[in-house]
Amino acid sequence: MSSQLTDHYREILLGVGEDPQREGLLDTPKRAAKAMQFLCNGYSKSLDEVVNGALFESDNDEMVIVRDIELYSLCEHHMLPFIGKAHVAYIPTGKVLGLSKVARIVDMFARRLQIQENLTKQIADAIQQVTQAAGVAVVVEAKHMCMMMRGVEKQNSVMTSSVMLGAFRDSSNTRHEFLQLIGRSK
Ligand SMILES: [Zn+2]
Repeated sequence: MSSQLTDHYREILLGVGEDPQREGLLDTPKRAAKAMQFLCNGYSKSLDEVVNGALFESDNDEMVIVRDIELYSLCEHHMLPFIGKAHVAYIPTGKVLGLSKVARIVDMFARRLQIQENLTKQIADAIQQVTQAAGVAVVVEAKHMCMMMRGVEKQNSVMTSSVMLGAFRDSSNTRHEFLQLIGRSK
């Protein structure tokens, strides 16, 4: 636990005009530092570590979809949360990934300071790298606190970002099937 980070949070309390010595705030710098370290614990993880060998032989070459993966991240511009869902699909070429690993890969990248577009791409590239799939599709839908709580204060705008690789990029049928299966096709 970084005491440096704790000290910085004490400074932040002073900076916003608070009294770090008042009773309710005595342990806040320590708690906030611990929370922030948790929210950024993706920096200390690697893809190998997260996948941990959970890659299985399979002759299935049909699209695998994991939808509605809860996603919690922090925007790199304001360090405020953005919260939403990720939908991930890939077309295996002999190897399938343990289901929980897809969610762990999402977490590994979400628990860093991010912009949604880069997060989406990093997830797609990682799934591609691990599975050597014929195609990978990732859609992320998220609400950004930096938009909702400040700035334009748009309460209900959801940002959608997507990355399509391989077959999902090349074939509009494949892409369409994916979008339909995650309920995002018109
Ligand atoms: Zn922001």
